[in-house]
Amino acid sequence: MKNEEILQFDREHIWHPYTSMIDPMKVYEVESAEGVYINLASGEKLIDGMSSWWSVVQGYNNPRLNSAIERQLKKMSHVMFGGLTHRPAVELAEKLVQMTPEGLNKIFYSDSGSVSVEVAIKMALQYHHARGNRFKTVVGTFAGGYHGDTWHCMSVCDPIGGMHTMYNGRLAEQLFVPRPEVGFGQKWDNTSLENLEDCFDKHHKKMAAFIVEPIVQGAGGMYMYHLNYLKALRALCNKYDVLLIVDEIATGFGRTGKMFACEHAGIVPDIMCLGKALTAGYMSFAATMTTDIVANTISSKEPTCFMHGPTFMGNPLACSVALEHLTMLEECSPLPRVAEIETILMAQLEKARELPQVAEVRVLGAIGVVEMKNNVDMQKMQAEFVEQGVWIRPFGKLVYIMPQYVISDQELTQLCESMVTVIGQQ
Ligand code: PMP
Repeated sequence: MKNEEILQFDREHIWHPYTSMIDPMKVYEVESAEGVYINLASGEKLIDGMSSWWSVVQGYNNPRLNSAIERQLKKMSHVMFGGLTHRPAVELAEKLVQMTPEGLNKIFYSDSGSVSVEVAIKMALQYHHARGNRFKTVVGTFAGGYHGDTWHCMSVCDPIGGMHTMYNGRLAEQLFVPRPEVGFGQKWDNTSLENLEDCFDKHHKKMAAFIVEPIVQGAGGMYMYHLNYLKALRALCNKYDVLLIVDEIATGFGRTGKMFACEHAGIVPDIMCLGKALTAGYMSFAATMTTDIVANTISSKEPTCFMHGPTFMGNPLACSVALEHLTMLEECSPLPRVAEIETILMAQLEKARELPQVAEVRVLGAIGVVEMKNNVDMQKMQAEFVEQGVWIRPFGKLVYIMPQYVISDQELTQLCESMVTVIGQQ
């Protein structure tokens, strides 16, 4: 097929994320990717500003990660996990237990972030079932959140501004507390906990769990909130016998400046979801981690088994690349580099604050967000970014980057400068 034919066939037959089949937005064909560069078939070389949606953090085509997969490929690419186990799954589990907050000792592997959230919610429901809490069947969450595209995930995504609004009325009805008002690093105000306390006070009898994206709400608005909300949540969950689920799928593995975002508040959740950067973005894979208490309670009462078991659970290729990635993180912590990236983002994106089109600039760790006053023309802006030699994909009012940890200072500066230039042209 010629390149034009590839794009034509793609347009006629293939759905892309959140697009129309009748009038799809332009897509760019990628020939290869190396380090922080995405090489288009049309010849342009783009600095990656998106880490392929929070996942690729150690560079595309990373030799060390490639070899980990190649080594495993020669042994086996997959075997079922029912009745069988293997070294990559076990060694990865050992590292995950070590690396995550103390007490998260039990691991359920699955195939994607959304599935790991489904699993987390099922764990919470089965935990309360096992304890005879018949009425604890509802999940609480903050408005403005995003937890994935499958059915129960959609029910805890923002019900108004979220991507799944059209399903309202068909989804499970969950409890929504207004988005945390006080931003990360802003002056704390105790009265801003009232909504949260009120929700627990009124509804705890039916609440099985409360799920949050810790500190950073991603696809629901790229918003960073004060760590005291997490501390308060931990205390309220303890007080009212509600399980705390933290969805670290986007924030995990250093992105916010801590290895896991819940560490900003020094709290340990009952259930934690991991995905995206777990495999350094090499392939779809996720893990739901929980405590001995939750796991043993589930197993103590009929049906005693945890009722989930995907075909590709514990896939050996995914486990081996994740294991290699965690070994790399152990050998060389990403946190000092993330702190440097944060400093550069703060200095560079400060220039956007002055622009009349801009409502707010927010930076935390390796995340830089410019919120515009109006919705952007995504297709037009995307093309302008490509012209500038960068890959940035805005949505709604948000133009944001979460660069790879291996980006150089000079590449990051160029990425930010292009971002500010294009924003200034809107
Ligand atoms: N939770 C969060 C916080 C996410 O950002 C995402 C993905 N954007 C998901 C869950 C769903 O993960 P996946 O796309 O791998 O199903």
